This record gives sequence, C-alpha cells and structure tokens, in this order.
Amino acid sequence: MRIGIAGAGFAGAVMARELADAGHDIDVFDARHHVAGNCHTERDDDTGVMVHVYGPHIFHTGHDHVWEYVLRFGQFMPYEHRVKATAGGGVYGLPVNLLTINQFFGSTMRPNEAAAFVDARSLELENQPVTFEDQALAFVGPDLYEAFFKGYTRKQWGLDPTELPASILKRLPLRFNYDDRYFDHPHVGIPADGYTPIVQWILDHPRINIHLGQHVTAADLVEFDHRFWTGPIDEYFDASHGRLGYRTLDFEVERHDGDYQGCPVMNFCDEDVPYTRVTEFKHFTPWETHSRTLTYREYSRPCGPGDIPYYPIRLVAEKTQLRQYVDLARQETGTTFLGRLGTYRYLDMDVTIHESLIGAQRFLAAVAARQPPSAFFIDPFA
Ligand code: UDP
Repeated sequence: MRIGIAGAGFAGAVMARELADAGHDIDVFDARHHVAGNCHTERDDDTGVMVHVYGPHIFHTGHDHVWEYVLRFGQFMPYEHRVKATAGGGVYGLPVNLLTINQFFGSTMRPNEAAAFVDARSLELENQPVTFEDQALAFVGPDLYEAFFKGYTRKQWGLDPTELPASILKRLPLRFNYDDRYFDHPHVGIPADGYTPIVQWILDHPRINIHLGQHVTAADLVEFDHRFWTGPIDEYFDASHGRLGYRTLDFEVERHDGDYQGCPVMNFCDEDVPYTRVTEFKHFTPWETHSRTLTYREYSRPCGPGDIPYYPIRLVAEKTQLRQYVDLARQETGTTFLGRLGTYRYLDMDVTIHESLIGAQRFLAAVAARQPPSAFFIDPFA
C-alpha cells in the first residue's frame, strides 16, 4: 500500500518504520525542517551543549520491548533523573521523599514515622479523588501541597488545582525513603547523541520518503491508500468544532560560564515566581565536559494560533469537543489518528512508541484480514 503519514515525531516515525519493514511504501511529511517533533535535539554552537530544543525530555520506560526498540536505533547513556525544587526560600529534592519531608518539617523521622505523620495530616476521602487538589491533599497533606504543588500547578496549567483532574498528579510518586530518583522505571537513559539521530535512524529505510518543511492538510493526503495523522486532531477537521485547548511553553535561553544551578532541572514552586522551572542541559550529559552552560527558563501560557501545542488540557469542555472530533474521525475511512496530538493525550515518549508498535500490528492484521483499519488503535478516552 502507499501510506501517507503526517508528522515525523516518534509516533509517525515508528509507524513508518514498522510498515516499511512490512513492505509498504511510506511518505512522511512534517511542517518543521527537522524530524523528531518536540523531542528534537541540537548541539549549541556557542557552548557545545546538547539542547532539547522544545524542552527537557528524559527517556524512561517500564516496557522492555520499547527499551529494546530504541536501543536498535541509538546509544543510550545510563542516567538517573533528579529534580530539585525551590519553594518558600528553601531548596528540596523532588519527588517528595523522606529527605524532602524531614527538611521541610525540620524533623528526623524514619520511614514509618513519616508515613504516619503525613497520613495524619492528609485528607480522608470517601471516594477516589477526582480533582488534582483532592488527590494532593489525600496524598501529601496540606503543607506539602501548598509548598510544592499548588503554585507550580497553577502556573503550569493556568487553572486552579480544584479544576484539574487527579490524573496529572498521579504521574509523580511519594516516597518514605531517601530514593530521590524522579522516575522509578527500570530503564532510564539519555541518548548519547540526542533524540534526532535516533528518529533519523528509525526513518532510514529505502521504502520511506521524508518531506520536511511541508505542512500538509487532510486534503493533501487523499491520494494515499491509508493515512496516519499525528498532528492535532482538530486541525485535521479544520477546527470545525473549535480549537482544542493546549498549554504552550516559552523558553528564555541564557548562556553562562561554569555551572549555573548545579542540577539538570530546578522547579520553582512559588506562585510569585513567573516561570515554572529552569533546565540546565549539560547536566543531562555528565559524560561530556563543557566550560560554558546553557539554560532554559520555562514559562507556560495558553496556546494561541501559531503557537506550538505542548500539554493537552482535557477538562470537561475540551473532552466534549474531543468527543465530537472522535466521532468525526470514526466516520472517516482510511485515516488513523496517533500520538499525543492525534489523540489529544498527555503521552510520554515511551508510551507513544508503544502505541505506534501496537498500532502497526493492528493495522497489518486489519489489512491481512481485508478489514478497514480503525481510526484509533487506542481509545482517546481510556
Ligand atoms: N507538579 C507540581 N510541582 C512540581 C512538579 C510537578 O505541582 O514541582 C505537578 C504539575 O501539576 C505537573 C504535574 O505535577 O503538571 C506532573 O509533573 P511532571 O514533572 O510529570 O510534568 P512534566 O515534566 O511532564 O511537565
């Protein structure tokens, strides 16, 4: 089959590769002049530091097959992500762990004591928490919530935590020991040469043609036997039900001599600090030596026309709108929607890859059975 894929990020690239390996001919289009989507990396000429152009990306996964898959296309260096947070005039470790708790409360509690202490201050809920705030109050109690989550979340999402879903906070662990690794997945790493060469290798196949700097619409892809759309789902339908809401990010780039902040990511949890975090990229590559350094000061705001969509908002209003787009998508024949923008979900890189691998199998099975491939391989509401 001749297959057209809109988007050369992980979702589109992995699908392209799997289908090319199965003997199909693939054209991949991307509006940008590089592959890898928001995972794109570039070495800075001035400092020599590898920069994650669209903000920090740390690869972490619990899927052995996804880890094996990415290792086929590039070298990953062992890396453990540790985040610090400046809050209320102090610096602490995140995620909240026993050191955070003991430093915050000026105590010397052991694991069981700390668990009992936090539990005694936490909100008792009769039902599963629905809002971010309830989840946080049930999880860490009011003091840690106010210090580390409330202000940061209001800045990051532009909404009060009472309006946000609990699922956002469920991304973060709470530990009653001194383990301060941000991710507890068995596989964590940073690509030795950045993410872009990995995606280039995934796409390096005689049956794949890449068209960069080419913004395509649904109409541009009609000639293909099947289409995969990894751009915003609302854009495919010309925003006929209105534009889906996203948060976008602005990055203020700074260069300094030496070591700017001593760690890769410093979160700023106080609401009166206008940015959410500062990333110092050279700390992602401790195997490299650089006398200068480059930082991104990150600001979050609503995504307007022409801005890059980062975080899908997915509140009640957006979900209603999404339902309309999903209905339209299910009526289309010959197009499958994939990835963070195509399914309007907050996806990590490994989940994106996992879903494209599953999707490719389902697509190939449908073609073999002469069935029409689905509009979604994963339910966008699951
Ligand atoms: N969060 C917070 N304070 C922090 C870090 C995270 O309140 O210092 C909240 C915030 O709402 C954020 C969510 O936890 O959106 C998930 O955090 P994560 O670090 O996974 O966000 P990402 O790196 O994907 O932006």
